[in-house]
Amino acid sequence: MIRLLQTPARRWLRCMACATTAIVLLAGCANASKSPSKQVVVDEAPQSSQTEESATTEGQDAAQNEEAGQSGPVADESPASEKPATAASPTELRAQLNITEDFRSSFIHGEKPAEFQKYIVLHDTEGDAVASNVIEWWDSNGKFVASHYVVNKDGSIVQCVPVDKIAHHAGYGDAGHNEQFGVTDESRDDKRGTEPIGDWAPDYGMNSYSVGIEMVHTGTSGEDYPEEQLRAVDGIIAYLDAYYGFESTIIDHNDWRTGNSDCSEEFQPYLRNLQETRTHDGS
Ligand SMILES: [Zn+2]
Repeated sequence: MIRLLQTPARRWLRCMACATTAIVLLAGCANASKSPSKQVVVDEAPQSSQTEESATTEGQDAAQNEEAGQSGPVADESPASEKPATAASPTELRAQLNITEDFRSSFIHGEKPAEFQKYIVLHDTEGDAVASNVIEWWDSNGKFVASHYVVNKDGSIVQCVPVDKIAHHAGYGDAGHNEQFGVTDESRDDKRGTEPIGDWAPDYGMNSYSVGIEMVHTGTSGEDYPEEQLRAVDGIIAYLDAYYGFESTIIDHNDWRTGNSDCSEEFQPYLRNLQETRTHDGS
């Protein structure tokens, strides 16, 4: 029990609290093993604007449903002949997840309508505490940081922020990353609880354009991610893709802020598969 209480507090200072504490971030940077030069290419497929426009209505409908405790659009008005026979609805995909909702108003920092959704940001919790304890820690530390989803090692999921709300999971990013990632600091974000971490990382736009997914895992521990957990991440991404009607660009937290410890080195093959195929194993 003592370990459970201490581990998330200490570990999370490396991950989420690094958004607001320069000293802690430097400690995380010193431990980081990833190259800081990784570049991310924003997906600008030729058909993306049309797809996003048509998806916005679906996303907004779904957002309203999610607010009402449901998921996915009320009804699919698209002719059946225009959709692949195998396409599952957001409602069906969400029903496949072992998910519990534990929404906390303290984690919400503004509106994120579907037209502002661009990225899915993957994180490690940097500890072994289960999702419910991680969320309790977030809600008690006074920093108002959280990711939308936390995925346990057994594949169970706790969602603590609706996807159409801004959560402070990405924190500050490197100077120039707003422009590189095609995001902007938004008045939609109340910035409550934020503390700048230095001139090198002034950009805050990612939080207003993304959904955050945390995996219970300690980076550089050498421990692989359980298959159940990886499949749950696949499932959330499939749900989000269907919910919005387009594929958000998948990155990890280290892409946004150089030197962050998450995600871990051992996650990189899975990340590449997810970016290419939307599944961790490339299937
Ligand atoms: Zn993180």
